[in-house]
Amino acid sequence: MTLRLFNTLTGQLDALEPADGKALRMYACGPTVYDYGHIGNFRTFLQIDLLRRFLRLSGVAVRHVMNITDVDDKIIRNAAAAGIPIGEYTKQYVDAFFEDLEALRVDRPEQIARATEHIPQMVELIEKLAAAGAAYKVEDGSWYFRLKSFPEYGKLSKKDLSGMEDGARVDVDEYEKDSARDFALWKAPKPNETFWDTAIGPGRPGWHIECSAMAMEYLGESFDLHCGGEDLMFPHHENEIAQSETATHKQFARHWMHVRFLLVDGRKMSKSESNFYTLRDLLLKGFKASAIRLALISVPYRRPFNFTFDSLTDATNAIDRLRTFRDRLTKGAFATGSNQAIRGAAKKAQTDYRDALSNDLNTAEACAAIFEMVREANTVIDRGLFHLSDRDAVLAVLADFDAVFDVLEDRDAEPTRRALAWADQAGRMSEVAPELIAAQSLTDEAIKALVAERTAAKKARNFVRADEIRSALAERGVILEDSKDGVRWKRK
Ligand SMILES: [Zn+2]
Repeated sequence: MTLRLFNTLTGQLDALEPADGKALRMYACGPTVYDYGHIGNFRTFLQIDLLRRFLRLSGVAVRHVMNITDVDDKIIRNAAAAGIPIGEYTKQYVDAFFEDLEALRVDRPEQIARATEHIPQMVELIEKLAAAGAAYKVEDGSWYFRLKSFPEYGKLSKKDLSGMEDGARVDVDEYEKDSARDFALWKAPKPNETFWDTAIGPGRPGWHIECSAMAMEYLGESFDLHCGGEDLMFPHHENEIAQSETATHKQFARHWMHVRFLLVDGRKMSKSESNFYTLRDLLLKGFKASAIRLALISVPYRRPFNFTFDSLTDATNAIDRLRTFRDRLTKGAFATGSNQAIRGAAKKAQTDYRDALSNDLNTAEACAAIFEMVREANTVIDRGLFHLSDRDAVLAVLADFDAVFDVLEDRDAEPTRRALAWADQAGRMSEVAPELIAAQSLTDEAIKALVAERTAAKKARNFVRADEIRSALAERGVILEDSKDGVRWKRK
């Protein structure tokens, strides 16, 4: 099965396949580590994770490289303000970033590349551009890319850059102006700034050259796919293309995937609007990592996602429904035999699910196919018409679902525990939801002991005590479910 994925460069759905027939070589722009990641960032990383998981489910090997931008304008400014070296300043955010990815169950790329560890490759690329007449040095020792040397500039974002002014320069890493300018490849150090002594002079790399140099270092001059958030399309990705293709005379990336932005309650997320959320903020409010994962991937990547707390509640309920269904299948007792109708429903769900993901990663339709099967199977089980040999067919579909969505196993306690430990250390306990603190104060052993006491009380027909225990647990976020196989409990 071939994935057809929208290609920003061609403006259409293109088949995504490894050019070398072996592994799909892909590059994804990683974080700039000057703060904790917000949910808009994580939407992008989760959608890229979903892509790589679906490729692997389809039997395509992946070689995925992600950079860490650990030197840029903001990092230098913030580290200087804190009076510490940039490496020390960025370490806390690099560690936090990987901890957050782990909480969200984002698979690690095969290669992580840190900008500060690839300075020689960047210098070499700038030398190559200088030799080709596409880079020039200015009075202070900084180097710029000459936009005029790349007539195809703008081909990715489809911007009309006819008003481009030769020699006009911009030295900041991020800018939103529509009019293109020669951009910085290498920045000469300002007083007291971190710098590297190199063949092209002292200084540090611009943001754009990092990605070009590191992508080519690990994936070659030409590779299959480049991904990132849509905010990176211009100028960052245009600049990557300009630098790389000018240096190599080869196509840089054949396919470009851009994940659309995230809104919060219909508005742009911003710190000044107080609708800005990091992953940690949401964990401290009592939302679970699995629900955040599902909410951020269940809206397809090319649609803007309007994040609300309701969307997290919906995701929590959806996960509950799936986990309960899976338990019902694995723990229930079924008669031998098989039910052709349910076999057919499972087969259809599997086909619809894979077709939806193959069609530009339509996660909304993929989930709908799974929930339709769950609904049908639940009805059949209720009527006592579900048979033992139907179970594997249905479980196989759930396995396909979970290979990509990865929310069926309940692994939520650990990310929450870690977020609480972090809040404690960062002096942010006042932001923690009270029921979360109450629930965390109960260990699993304490819960099991109370559940056992309640079972004993019920047996002794002491229903008052049994009810007391149930409500005491509920107050602390622990829910009990009585079934004929005994009592199951879970944290809300
Ligand atoms: Zn990049």
